[in-house]
Formats: sequence, structure tokens, C-alpha cells
Amino acid sequence: MYEFAVTPAVTNIRRRGVEISDVTPDSLGDEMELEAGDRIIKVNGRTVRDYLDFRFQTAGETELVLEVRKKNGEDWELELERGEGEDFGLTFEAIVPRQCANECIFCFCNGNPADARPSLFIKDEDIRLSFLYGNYTTLTSISEDEMRRLVEQRLSPQYVSVHATDLDVRAYMLGIDKERADISGKLSRLLEAGIEVHAQVVLCPGINDGEVLRKTVFDLAAEYPRITSVAIVPLGLTRYNTDARLTPVTPEFCREVIDHVSAMQQEIKARLGINFALLGDEIYLRAGRQIPATSHYGDYPQIEDGVGMVRSFIRDFAKLRKRIEREGSTNVKRKHGTILTGTLFAPVLQKLVHKLNEQNGSRLVVEPVENGYFGGDVSVAGLLTGRDLLGARDRIKGEFVVIPRQMLKSDDEIMLDGMRLNEVSQSLGVPVHALNLDMLASLLLQKN
Ligand code: SF4
Repeated sequence: MYEFAVTPAVTNIRRRGVEISDVTPDSLGDEMELEAGDRIIKVNGRTVRDYLDFRFQTAGETELVLEVRKKNGEDWELELERGEGEDFGLTFEAIVPRQCANECIFCFCNGNPADARPSLFIKDEDIRLSFLYGNYTTLTSISEDEMRRLVEQRLSPQYVSVHATDLDVRAYMLGIDKERADISGKLSRLLEAGIEVHAQVVLCPGINDGEVLRKTVFDLAAEYPRITSVAIVPLGLTRYNTDARLTPVTPEFCREVIDHVSAMQQEIKARLGINFALLGDEIYLRAGRQIPATSHYGDYPQIEDGVGMVRSFIRDFAKLRKRIEREGSTNVKRKHGTILTGTLFAPVLQKLVHKLNEQNGSRLVVEPVENGYFGGDVSVAGLLTGRDLLGARDRIKGEFVVIPRQMLKSDDEIMLDGMRLNEVSQSLGVPVHALNLDMLASLLLQKN
């Protein structure tokens, strides 16, 4: 999902400094005559590589010397004083992700159709994006320079794909030699420096499940609270993953994993007071088992990885119903439309929407949409495409369509297959709204 959170690496040329992309009028940056396109090269004699460096090197400093390469090629040296905490009013270019050098057997990049958008093929492995957005890294390619930076700038928390603490299995899964796969030294260094680590396991049947998984979970739990949690998420295969080493995740496998991990959770909880190892929602949904209660997830440490997202949604949907109850239901009563979502989540949403309809007289219909673009066992809403939505045309009822907001790029109304939201609306002949829950509530409360 993170290909939407970052700017694609369009160039390998690393320019010096960090480029300013916008300057707020009347801000300190504006007073210094900084402009979009200028690059800040150094702060107080220290090199700036990106906006995190700028933030770190200016933090708490009131007297500063900036070395700037103006967009016209001039070099400026600016001396300035600023009030404590005074903002520069500068926006910077996005971080261009560093790429990984692994050949993971389950890498999602191998599951893309050949004509997928270039950003889907970015194999990012970047501790900065881990800190900023929760992207996972394997720590296999991290350089000494980055290690030092991570510790010095306290880029905490970090999200680390461990997959297995058995070194043979880890090396096999990452497609690299054991020496590179061994991150025990790096991990210890992070933990000793007080960097909080969240671990991830992508569970591949027959490879890192069973005893390998048990060892992984208990090895990681031995580092609690320095390692705060481990998310166990299932392998996802599209129709383009043809690697014979991979076995699809079945409902039966999911049921076995739930039983196995529940027993571990009980043991760990008795010792640590928390579940620590948390299963991805997809595993419960595929198994046809109940999603655990809110308390199971603690403070939802890896919700962005789909761990506890469904429970959190159910909780937020209850708030939506209360809001609608509070703010009146006259407008809601007239609402007749279709909500399109992935096949995995549709049964959960159908139940919730059924209650909403009963309570308010609305006529909302939830329709599951198959993922024809990726195929395989891809069934989550966030990976549906515009063409998939068009395939549901015959099932659309009412005056509008709602789709989950995460189907769109974070900063543009475009879907994974390049179709724009307005094109989908035009083709379906009804307005299509890409919404989160708050937005859905507002739509339902709006006058027709
Ligand atoms: S670390 Fe593995 S899964 Fe992640 S991008 Fe690299 S090869 Fe793909």
C-alpha cells in the first residue's frame, strides 16, 4: 500500500542538499528570500541530505547559518536568528526511497502485471520511510552511515520485516546469503540505542510457519519491551506469482495458524501482560473466525499493516451510527446507493450497513467486487482498480456509489490501473465518492 505514500524514484542521480518545494508568504523563509527550487546544502556546516536532516539540524537552534544553492545557480550563505520554535515556513521535496537488494520469494513486485504503474515496482527499503510512514525494512541493505544516522536522529519507531529468526529460513525467504540475512548485530544496536522496533512476519505456508514461527515469536518476545509487537500477516499471491516455492494461504491454514498463535498469545500474555504477536485481519476473515475484541490489540501498534483495522472500523462504524442518530435521520432516510468493496471485507460491511438501514430507513447496498486486475487471492479493497469497479456495473443500485478512500492514490483521484475517479463515475453513470467513514457520515446526513 505504501507505493502511494512516497514519490517514485525517478532518478538515481543524488543531488546535494534538499530542494524547497514551497515557501509560505511572510514566513521566515520568505523573509530570507528563499524560493521554491532553491536547495539547502548545509545547516551550521553540517550536510543536509533530505528534510529529515534539515529538521534535525535546525531543531532547537536559534542562530543558524544556511548554505543555499539558489535555483539560478548562485551560492548564498544566510545568517539568521529565529525565535524559539519559530517555523521556517518551508516545504521540501519528498524523500526518494532507497531500493532494497533482496530477492524475496514473496515480493509483491513479482505479483504485478507487466503494465502496472512504475511506482508498484519500487522495492523500497528505507529506514526514513519506516520512521515516517511505517514502511517495513529488512535492515539487510542498511549502510553504516544510515545506521549512525538512525541512532543519532532517533528515527524511532522502526518497522522491521523479520519473517523468521531461523537464519536459514530468513536467508531463503529474502533470497540472499546468510551473512547478509543475519541482522542480529544491527537489531541489537538499534535496541541498545533505545529505538523502538515493531517486527513483521509474512507467513508463507510450509516455510516459516509451525515451529519456525514459534521460535520467531518467542525470540522476538524475549526482547520485549524493546521490540514492542510482531505482526503476522499472510502471504498474498496474485495470478502473476508463479513461483513454485510458494503455497497459497487457504482457510484451513488460517484456522490452524489462529489456533497455533492463540496458544502462544496465552503463554506470552501470562508473562508479559500483552498478546505481543498479533495476526493480520485477513487471517481471521479467511478462516471465517470472529475478529478479536478491541482489547486484544492493545494500542493497535501495527494497524496500518492490516492488524486490527477491521476491529477499529467496526468501532468507528458504531460511532457513525451514533452520530447519525444524534444529528437526525430525515436526510439519511432518502439515501439510496451502493457501497463497493473487496470480497474479503464485504460480509463484515454488509452486516454493519444492514443495521444502519434498519435504524435509519436508508437503502444502502454493499456489493463485493472481485479483483480481476491482480487475480489470485487478492481480495482487499485497497487493491481494487477502476476496471474492477466497472465490472460491478450491473449490481449498482440507487443514485450514487461509495468506494473506500484507500482505493485512490493519497494525493490524486487515480486508481491503481490509472483510471481516474471521474472516468469511473462517467462510465457508471452515477457519482462515485471515495470516502472514509467520517465522509460517509457527512454524505448520509447531507440534504439530497
Ligand atoms: S524487501 Fe523483499 S518484499 Fe520488500 S521490496 Fe525488497 S524484495 Fe520485495
